[in-house]
Amino acid sequence: MSLLCKGIAAAQGIAIGHAFVKVEQTLSYTRTTLEADQVAAEVARLKEAVGKTISQLEAIKQKASKDIGEAEAKIFEAHQLIMSDPEFIGAIESNIESEKINSESALEGVSNMFVGMFESMEDEYMRERAADLRDVSKRLLKNLLGIEDSLLGDATEAVILVCHDLTPSDTAQLDKDQVKAFVTNIGGRTSHSAIMARTMEIPAVTGLSDITEKVKSGDMLVVDGETGDVFVNPDQDLIASYEQKLKEFHEQKATWAKLINEPSVTKDGHHVELVANIGTPHDAEGADKAGAEGIGLFRTEFLYMGRDNFPTEEEQFEAYKAVAATIDNNRPVVIRTLDIGGDKELPYLDLPHEMNPFLGYRAIRICLDQVDLFKTQLRALLRASAFGNIKIMYPMIASLVELRQANAILEEVKEDLRQNGIAFNEEIEVGMMIEIPAAAVVADQLAKEADFFSIGTNDLIQYTMAVDRMNQQISYLYDPFNPAVLRLIKNVIDAAHKEGKWAGMCGEMAGEEYALPVLLGFGLDEFSMSAPSILRSRHLLTQLSMEEMKAATNEILNLATGEEIRAYIKENILDKL
Ligand code: PEP
Ligand code: MG
Repeated sequence: MSLLCKGIAAAQGIAIGHAFVKVEQTLSYTRTTLEADQVAAEVARLKEAVGKTISQLEAIKQKASKDIGEAEAKIFEAHQLIMSDPEFIGAIESNIESEKINSESALEGVSNMFVGMFESMEDEYMRERAADLRDVSKRLLKNLLGIEDSLLGDATEAVILVCHDLTPSDTAQLDKDQVKAFVTNIGGRTSHSAIMARTMEIPAVTGLSDITEKVKSGDMLVVDGETGDVFVNPDQDLIASYEQKLKEFHEQKATWAKLINEPSVTKDGHHVELVANIGTPHDAEGADKAGAEGIGLFRTEFLYMGRDNFPTEEEQFEAYKAVAATIDNNRPVVIRTLDIGGDKELPYLDLPHEMNPFLGYRAIRICLDQVDLFKTQLRALLRASAFGNIKIMYPMIASLVELRQANAILEEVKEDLRQNGIAFNEEIEVGMMIEIPAAAVVADQLAKEADFFSIGTNDLIQYTMAVDRMNQQISYLYDPFNPAVLRLIKNVIDAAHKEGKWAGMCGEMAGEEYALPVLLGFGLDEFSMSAPSILRSRHLLTQLSMEEMKAATNEILNLATGEEIRAYIKENILDKL
């Protein structure tokens, strides 16, 4: 039976294909006692699962080295070594033989013993190996229980992934050739999985509440990432109309592609910068190919995720330098310091469980508290600044006090580098994100001490409207065009300009069709967005006049609701193009 489900349009694009429903599985088993004649078969079962684990790790290692980097790939090499270690695997075998118990129980006993041993060691490196052991033991346990590890199970054709939720690290593992789109029960437009989907050009609809209940694997789906519509088992006419839309979408992209080497200039000659948001050094290549004039936000936390220990200064230095090398010709690369917390978890940092993680111990708050962690990143950033036009940006600054604290730590790191004769750019620009209303209100004071601002609307909207960016039930309140949000944005841009500083925006709003004319009229200097939105935005920009948009925003600022503002933009600007 045909069914229409409405969710949040999280990543644009259309997908037509079969569903693969990912079922959450629990890792439970019972301890069983074996008869003497069952022991040999049990050891053989263990060896088979070990073999499977090693080949899975090989596949993950290859993918990580291709898509993310050699450093990440090394983690899986270490996991393979554990699986081939006679001390570890041999101990599980002996346990099965001596205790006459099933492999799962033997594995648990041996793994707990080794983990405990590593955790109690003085040496930090050895202590970190405990996390590797835990991780690889879990993978082996899944294989013993016959639980599929991959997100896509045995799917052989490209599918539409249907699941309760996707973590940012799950999303990082998705392969565009295997996943045509994904749809989830929870999540919003600015959840990090949605943001990554846009960068990866995978259409996505989130916040569908119970899509995993309504769809079975193999059902035919049409996903519209522009409207948030998901059609389940639609009729042939609907499929045909979406095939036509898909064709038109590709044609439109071909038109935009002609602007790849063109500057971002309005029809009355006003120049702005259209730059990209990236999550990994690898994304920088995509941004470059997509016509980005630089990087406006490198979310460095993704370097820290999907692994079980902190990246070293050297690894970070290489990553930052690599981005600067890809974004060459002195194009700007704004690198944000660690912004962990909220929906971005880092298990090995052992963060406390909080009632309101978006309002909690996150981002700059962690860095100002765990100064060594912060200094390692700042050293890597400063060293990389000798190799390109790198700018440092702090996330989640709430007050001038925090900006000063962060800058004081940065000065210490700079001084240390000077003392040791290590090169860095003495003129490096250091800016901050404006994503907390308190910072937007005192932007005039902050602008005196920050070299630039980048407005993080994903968080600024949630804090201004008191609406959780992950909660689909109240997503109607999450409105970039709410007059309160627009006034704050205008205030920030004006404050920057008064001090001769530039203002950018790296929240998702910067890449939205309706927002661009308004932000242009406000005088925004830099628009940072997911790479696939750049050419579409440049196409729109070339059709607009700065002077006309300035006049339009004067009227827009007097309108009372988001709805009126959107209607104004549609009727007076977009429909007239
Ligand atoms: C923002 O809040 O707008 C932003 C860009 O940061 P993030 O989405 O990573 O929280
Ligand atoms: Mg943010």
